[in-house]
Amino acid sequence: MAVMRTILLQGAGNRWLRERASHYRFVRRALRRFMPGERLEDAIEAARVLREQGLNTIFTRLGENLTDRSQANEVVEHYLDVLHRVTALNLPTVISVKLTQLGLDFDREFCFQNLCRLIEGAGNGDIVWIDMESSAYVDVTLEVYRRARAQYANVGVCLQAYLYRTAKDLESLVPLGPAIRLVKGAYREPPEIAFPRKSDVDANYFQLTSRMLSAEAQQAGMRAVVGTHDPQLIQRIQAVALERGLRKDCFQFHMLYGIQRALQSRLAREGWRAGVLISYGKDWFAWYMRRLAERPANLWFVMRNIVG
Ligand SMILES: Cc1cc2nc3c(=O)[nH]c(=O)nc-3n(C[C@H](O)[C@H](O)[C@H](O)COP(=O)(O)OP(=O)(O)OC[C@H]3O[C@@H](n4cnc5c(N)ncnc54)[C@H](O)[C@@H]3O)c2cc1C
Repeated sequence: MAVMRTILLQGAGNRWLRERASHYRFVRRALRRFMPGERLEDAIEAARVLREQGLNTIFTRLGENLTDRSQANEVVEHYLDVLHRVTALNLPTVISVKLTQLGLDFDREFCFQNLCRLIEGAGNGDIVWIDMESSAYVDVTLEVYRRARAQYANVGVCLQAYLYRTAKDLESLVPLGPAIRLVKGAYREPPEIAFPRKSDVDANYFQLTSRMLSAEAQQAGMRAVVGTHDPQLIQRIQAVALERGLRKDCFQFHMLYGIQRALQSRLAREGWRAGVLISYGKDWFAWYMRRLAERPANLWFVMRNIVG
């Protein structure tokens, strides 16, 4: 299982594979499980359906590590248009962006200014989420987040429970009254910096969530998002929240489109705040390989699509 995960995550960066994958119909068919389509309109249609089930949505246009200003400008214009359209359609939708989509790799100040444009464009207190990319980006991402948080309340950042450093990072962020989406972590990281065993990642995830839901963090203004599809963890976190007398709307659960659909709607039915992150766009290859790596059994699903 671990070997398969490594192979898939290595494949995520392979240009040769990326160029070929999109030509195969069976890959595209399998992709539909995690992505309603490549176009923004597909994401909007999916968001309408989810809204009927009481689920809010988070949009992310795929693509990372952009290399020039015009590409990054185009991304910003695209997201500003998204913000405008979801407001006009009255959709409960926010956006989640990767800093390397906004120019982080070649000009940090330009990237920061792009982020500010999106935060201002979101208005209404809607949070603009910053994804967390591989470990090499954690310091700079948190630096950008701190700077943005000093100016705006409606900005949130993702933290990854598989990194040893995250407990410390979380402690340093708590006094800022941050918005934090906690996930397990999706990249290939060495054992020197990330827990290699899943059971340790799960235990750390629970500890970190417990801290995010502590009285001190809540009083500081923490807006916590539990970003996992793990039913056991979700159950334990719900129990902790209820034990502590927290209201069900004090925090949110976020999941990815197409994963644990029944659980997503059950959470909403039971009165928890729940959201679904919808990805779309043409640059889906690296992202899709990470989804396969999370659950190599998904490969069988891809194989089944070869025969229709
Ligand atoms: C809203 C959201 C935002 C995210 N943002 C980031 C980010 O910014 N940076 C980052 O590194 N990672 C991000 N991730 C991905 C995350 O790091 C994990 O890789 C992913 O969520 C799988 O972990 P899990 O918590 O669901 O637990 P797991 O223990 O991996 O899975 C629990 C159960 O969920 C189901 N499941 C999980 N993944 C899949 C899958 N791919 N296909 C089918 N079933 C599956 C299975 O039933 C599995 O048993 C995000 C995840 C979510 C939900």
